[in-house]
Amino acid sequence: MTEFAYRDGVLCAEDVPLPRIADAVGTPFYCYSEARLAARYLSFANAFRGQPALICFALKANSNLAVVHALARLGAGADVVSEGELRQALAAGVPPERIVFSGVGKTEAEIEHALGAGILQINVESTAEIADVARVAARMGTRAPVALRINPDVAADTHAKIATGKSENKFGIDLDHAREAYGFAAGLRALDVQGLAMHIGSQILSLDPFRVAFGKLALLAADLKAAGLPVKRLDLGGGLGIAYDGEQPPEPAGYAALVAETLGALGCEIVLEPGRYLVGEAGLLITRVVRLKDGITHRFAIVDAAMNDLARPALYGAYHRITPVKEPRPSAPLAPVEVVGPVCETADTFARDRKLPPLEAGDLLAIHQAGAYGAVMASTYNARLLVPEVMVKDGRFAVIRPRPSYDDLLGRDRLPDWEAERDAARRVREA
Ligand code: PLP
Repeated sequence: MTEFAYRDGVLCAEDVPLPRIADAVGTPFYCYSEARLAARYLSFANAFRGQPALICFALKANSNLAVVHALARLGAGADVVSEGELRQALAAGVPPERIVFSGVGKTEAEIEHALGAGILQINVESTAEIADVARVAARMGTRAPVALRINPDVAADTHAKIATGKSENKFGIDLDHAREAYGFAAGLRALDVQGLAMHIGSQILSLDPFRVAFGKLALLAADLKAAGLPVKRLDLGGGLGIAYDGEQPPEPAGYAALVAETLGALGCEIVLEPGRYLVGEAGLLITRVVRLKDGITHRFAIVDAAMNDLARPALYGAYHRITPVKEPRPSAPLAPVEVVGPVCETADTFARDRKLPPLEAGDLLAIHQAGAYGAVMASTYNARLLVPEVMVKDGRFAVIRPRPSYDDLLGRDRLPDWEAERDAARRVREA
């Protein structure tokens, strides 16, 4: 990956030295490379050239307006899971007819908003949701385009917290009930049934689970067609993994060939919902070493980023590569260090026993593959400000989400009326 490389002894994002951005915006911050985003999108899109495929970027991976806009400009649609994400996709310039809406818990207000916006389809995940969408559409005097998300009961061989395609997971309609549910939906005048959807999980590193799931989907689609039901579109979800620690994930070309092999004969339109694949490698989290601390058993590098900024290590025990921004000498000795944040939780650990060259307070570190499920999962835990996000393009950079102020943070809360009244009464008494 040349977008994040050492030049003249310092790590750069495209042509911009990262210390220059750190000086301008402070640390920690997320930094995205537009060239990397584009390269990932184009490699995915090119793999599907020749298939009737729509690539709907899963905003849950990174919903920054500038990121979504950069992908939309290249032709990406959007997969959204809330009214907020739908609004973000539209604001970033994604045309409504390229937006699909997934998720098990859409409220009536969200369904109404999606139908009002004229999106491509709502992926419904239960018989109860089929009835709810039909009721909202009838009330609005419209027909709702829906696809039925099925649960193919396939183990995705990924972290349990991001596996979604087993029957015990909350997602999708069980295969056993899918035919009945499809017939029910197709019989409702307020619904315009488009086809089937699925998503078996995230960070999947082998094509095998996709092969099994697509095979089941193909059988179901063929059955439904044979029964005279319309199946125009198949939404295959996302899930293609990336290399965090030297893994060898499948390439889009192999994935696309599998789609053609297992589903091509059905002649359906295909929707894909990649998230992590498109943005994961396009982002770094840059953090500064606050101080070093030698414990009895471990040396700690305490950095100014924390689990509230990048939750994946604390949430999933996820591995992220960490490198110094100043290029170490090739002969620099490597020693194990715990890279930890300042939050008052032991889970606030980015890396354990990580072999790094000697560090000093003030050094910048880059946490790699942080473009997906990074900033979107951030919180203000420990009253920490959300970190800024920066986009780099060639030799320029732009702040695409500024750091909020402490006034912003404090201004979110309100005292209840009775406290304000009590304070006012006290002031009167004391006057
Ligand atoms: N589609 C749906 C319905 C999802 O829940 C997810 C995330 O889990 C995605 C797409 C994106 O997955 P990934 O980022 O692994 O490509």
